[in-house]
Amino acid sequence: MSALVFLAALGVSAGASGAATLEISPPRPKQGEIVVVTLRSPSPLSSATLSDGTREVTMEAVGDGRLFRALLGIDFESAVGKREIRVTASGAEGVERRAAKTVEVRSGRFPTQKLKVAPAYVEPPKEELARIAEDREKVKRIWAAADSGRRFESAFRLPVASSSRGSFGVRRVFNDQPRSPHDGVDLAAPKGEPVVAAAPAVVVLAEDLYFSGATVILDHGGGLLTSYFHLSAIDVRPGQAVAGGERIGAVGATGRATGPHLHWSARLHRARVNPLDLLQLPAWPAVAPAAH
Ligand SMILES: [Zn+2]
Repeated sequence: MSALVFLAALGVSAGASGAATLEISPPRPKQGEIVVVTLRSPSPLSSATLSDGTREVTMEAVGDGRLFRALLGIDFESAVGKREIRVTASGAEGVERRAAKTVEVRSGRFPTQKLKVAPAYVEPPKEELARIAEDREKVKRIWAAADSGRRFESAFRLPVASSSRGSFGVRRVFNDQPRSPHDGVDLAAPKGEPVVAAAPAVVVLAEDLYFSGATVILDHGGGLLTSYFHLSAIDVRPGQAVAGGERIGAVGATGRATGPHLHWSARLHRARVNPLDLLQLPAWPAVAPAAH
């Protein structure tokens, strides 16, 4: 059986005609891209779960159960090549249905960038190592936290007024030493410029960390979190609910930064994705149901 762009038919209940289909947009995503997975069924389904081999994502029903949707992140360091996306769905009568489709992950073609920073941010002093390890554990626990209900319904906004958009995924060399690739975008802006929540969220972290400086992490629900680094001021506290566009802090250059800017990054079900993709999310749940 050819797996390539194969639309497996979901067995459907008697009376419904035609097969259910799985759509993945874009079908050939780049590393770090967000894809929209849509399942259309001629008859109502009660639940659908998607798997890409590394993570499982519960799809959301839109309307009467003939349409399910999920956002899937392609981690920016994930392997290039073909990958099967599988969906397991339950019919109204409790029978399990399956569908699969192959996507082809393309290279993000990330360039290498050389940067000069204070030596303490390339080889941190020994007395800071315990704190750095603690920071890392703290952030890891946040990424691992259970998904909550989705709080956003449409595209995100840019969290700061800035004309720069680049640097996602770049392979960074600090003071001639290779370090982890850049998992966000650097939005240049003057110190003190307001930083706002990109979408409705709950604040899950608001404190000073060694590398990222004054940091805010927002949980938008639905497995999606965004981070805001190097702030000069933090105006929110953990547990606080914020609206999209609400001020959370101000641009700065704290932590490992070469000058004032906002480092903005996003994780979707733990996959590190380009946050700029969030500016183009389709409105949700306002989706036309499948014709039937
Ligand atoms: Zn950055």
